[in-house]
Amino acid sequence: MSETLKWTDERLSQLRTLWDEGLSISQIGEKMGVSRNAIAGKVHRMKLPKRSSPISKSAKSAGPVAEPEELPLRRSLRKIKWSRSKCAWPSGDPKTTEFSFCGEPILAGKPYCAEHCEMAYTTSRDGS
Ligand SMILES: [Zn+2]
Repeated sequence: MSETLKWTDERLSQLRTLWDEGLSISQIGEKMGVSRNAIAGKVHRMKLPKRSSPISKSAKSAGPVAEPEELPLRRSLRKIKWSRSKCAWPSGDPKTTEFSFCGEPILAGKPYCAEHCEMAYTTSRDGS
């Protein structure tokens, strides 16, 4: 039961490929007929890049690519399907989950409620 294992170039590249495909160490071991420990040690020695989990949580939005800048507010608006009859004045920090919208009834023809229309149109918002 000696684990004299020859890491030929071929096997190294196989390991690399499987690693890049996102297989776990034990899966790679299985495929290559090598113990998990041998793979783990090799991976460590090869300094292969750490992988994030294979299933990334919808990191890529399905929005149009041409958009110059994906603003958090925009994304939220799209997600929420905000009613057009409610004030869409953002409250909270768009970068956090606390983020929400005002939700008051809007003024006719305006995207915001009376209070926020005033804020939007009379003063220029200087971002804190
Ligand atoms: Zn409002």
